[in-house]
Amino acid sequence: MRIDKMLSNLGFGSRKEVKKLLKDGALQVNQKVIKDSGHHVDSEKDTVTVHGEEVQYREFIYLMMNKPPGVISATEDNRDQTVIDLLELEDSVLDPFPVGRLDKDTEGLLLITNDGQLAHKLLSPKKHVPKTYFAVIDGEVTEEDVLAFKKGVVLDDGYETKPGELKILKSGIRSDIELTITEGKFHQVKRMFQSVGKRVVYLQRLTMGPLALDESLELGEYRELTEEEVEALM
Ligand code: URA
Repeated sequence: MRIDKMLSNLGFGSRKEVKKLLKDGALQVNQKVIKDSGHHVDSEKDTVTVHGEEVQYREFIYLMMNKPPGVISATEDNRDQTVIDLLELEDSVLDPFPVGRLDKDTEGLLLITNDGQLAHKLLSPKKHVPKTYFAVIDGEVTEEDVLAFKKGVVLDDGYETKPGELKILKSGIRSDIELTITEGKFHQVKRMFQSVGKRVVYLQRLTMGPLALDESLELGEYRELTEEEVEALM
């Protein structure tokens, strides 16, 4: 990234002010004075100092949130609180956004990043990234439903889903299930159950690709992904 953009993001002033800082010789990259504001730095590898003080900058951030109910998975909303409103990040972290959407009443694993390329990859329908949900269903979930989901069901708009793997954890007038799907159609889990005449009364996402919800996170809490988790996603 350009050094002037990086320093400006870090709060060293406008691009013009940063330019002056550089002209004054205040900036060193890997112990060499750099005066060109268009100079590119690798925030992972280069050592950047301003007036001899090292500055840390990470271009990308990767967070796992345990999304609480009642919060919208979007960056802005006129009425409701969004998952981004729950974050307490330094100003230098630019434009984080949730990767994909969970319904307002859905809980669980939500990845938040500002890495557009990664988000695109995870959301691409071609990649078939599996997502596993835990749900409580109003109604008795049966082996017939397991077979129907395995074949793919037809949603209310005529769309035929790809196969989903349904596991019955507890069957009764209220059933507990786990469902793994590789698509992300609007309200998909709820509409899949609707297609077999049943209603989702609680929904929680447990996994997304190689990422699993960290059970130590309370609702609304988040943490940075570990290096291993980020690598597994790439
Ligand atoms: N399917 C749904 O119906 N809702 C979600 O939030 C996620 C998947």
